[in-house]
Amino acid sequence: MKNPFDLTGKVAIVTGANTGLGQGIAVALAEAGADVGLVTRSPCDETVGYIEKAGRRSHVIKADLSTIEPVERIIKEARESLGGIDILVNNAGIIKRNDSIDFTVEDWDSVMNVNIRTLFFLSQGVARSMIDAGGGGKIINIASMLSYQGGIRVPSYTASKSAVMGLTRILANEWAKHGINVNAIAPGYFATNNTTALQADEKRNAEILGRIPVGRWGQPAELGGAAVFLASSAANYVHGTTLPVDGGWLSR
Ligand code: NAD
Repeated sequence: MKNPFDLTGKVAIVTGANTGLGQGIAVALAEAGADVGLVTRSPCDETVGYIEKAGRRSHVIKADLSTIEPVERIIKEARESLGGIDILVNNAGIIKRNDSIDFTVEDWDSVMNVNIRTLFFLSQGVARSMIDAGGGGKIINIASMLSYQGGIRVPSYTASKSAVMGLTRILANEWAKHGINVNAIAPGYFATNNTTALQADEKRNAEILGRIPVGRWGQPAELGGAAVFLASSAANYVHGTTLPVDGGWLSR
């Protein structure tokens, strides 16, 4: 029987693939058989090494996603170096913490630019490329628990991640007819650079762990399976959903 999770012959692009969840996802996609375009603004040697070890090809695409300037180049480079684009994972994201009463325009704009503006226009560009190629594809956005909840002291992050869940639905509605599945993954609390401050804050760390039924932070590799599923033919009838991978957080 054919393995429905097999990604052999597929090409994926993962943004923010040098570290954290993006690295975990890129490596999982490669282990499932995909070649991977690694979109990164930082050195990415570690991820390249893991993908080589999995026996797959990678291509590093240097890009700063704080503006949409690199969007066309990312798509062109991925197509030329890896032969097409079947899967896009919009993972790159940032967070700024401050009381909403003091929150600055700069902290609002910088988060919205990476987390939702570039995510939308990169998705649009990749979807156009998928439609031109005639083969459909999979787009996976990285949402958050703050796509469902308000959080505290992270207004632009909550706004952006709530928007990611809504955008995932509208893009799924519009692009399903082109054979493109648009879905999202909502990670719970994972141990990465993004959460270093929370992990280091003894009180917040204890509060967070106290609510997670599994009682520990997630590890980046534990997000890979959900990405492989949504990138694979096993998910061909899954459109517009946001899949929580959260150790049970939302069930509490
Ligand atoms: P991280 O800080 O380790 O990684 C973020 C990645 O985004 C890095 O690769 C970084 O270089 C990239 N990035 C940020 N700004 C960029 C820019 N302007 N141009 C190019 N790349 C840029 O954090 P992470 O936890 O791995 O976060 C990955 C995604 O998962 C983010 O969207 C984050 O919001 C989301 N997320 C994380 C958690 C968690 O618990 N760690 C929970 C929910 C959602």
